[in-house]
Amino acid sequence: MSIAVAILGRPNVGKSTLFNRLVGRRLALVDDIPGVTRDRREGEGRIADLCFRVIDTAGLEEAAPASLAARMQAQTELALAEADVALLVIDAREGVTAADRHFADRLRRSSKPIVLVANKTEGRATLPGIGESYRLGLGDPVPVSAEHGEGLAELYERLRPFADARDADAVPVGHDKPLQLAIVGRPNVGKSTLANRLIGEERLLTGPEAGITRDAIAVDWMWRGPRSCWRRARPACRCAAAGPQNDGRLQ
Ligand code: GDP
Ligand code: MG
Repeated sequence: MSIAVAILGRPNVGKSTLFNRLVGRRLALVDDIPGVTRDRREGEGRIADLCFRVIDTAGLEEAAPASLAARMQAQTELALAEADVALLVIDAREGVTAADRHFADRLRRSSKPIVLVANKTEGRATLPGIGESYRLGLGDPVPVSAEHGEGLAELYERLRPFADARDADAVPVGHDKPLQLAIVGRPNVGKSTLANRLIGEERLLTGPEAGITRDAIAVDWMWRGPRSCWRRARPACRCAAAGPQNDGRLQ
């Protein structure tokens, strides 16, 4: 499963332009009139080999309760809740505004990872705006020009670790997914013997005495070669405890 990246920021900073750039199509309306984007919009974003779900938002505004702006704001909050990482976009030409500071504070409280994106950085005249953005306390900004497709390599570098972390957590699918097999039963019914037969070696101690296996023993094991559906099993010998040497705990 790919990560979800939400694009947030005050109106008119170029969020929808960045969204379109990342999905490679003009899916979202772009305009220099603030408030054009209302619903959150989702698409499949890509930078080189990095694929992710990207969510464009109406932007963060301070809004009166029950107003359209408040409902747009609620959509933005939902996008943030769904996101693995938030891109807070600012307009580097205008520098950091009070609204940017307000929303930087809001995002910091959300505990989501934030990547600060300084947009509209084509041309060196915007460099002072980039310097100012450090004061938001969100780390190094990524200078981009969504309109001109500049700065995407650095954005890639900043998003890559989140995608890698997701990949590391992912459970393998298909026949590569290991089967977790637990062998359970009361003492002395032959759990360890069965495990040893399956594995094909005397891996677990067996014997007439009840309760020989004390721990759950995990064994990686391949059933009949790599093409089998049981790639790996975990004959964890556990039994509901009974008898003089145990006290009702699982062994
Ligand atoms: P949003 O309200 O944050 O979604 O902003 P939009 O994507 O609708 O863009 C607002 C305005 O900024 C439009 O006129 C865009 O053409 C302009 N814009 C967006 N990205 C850039 C950029 O990288 N450079 C410049 N110069 N203008 C941009
Ligand atoms: Mg927009």
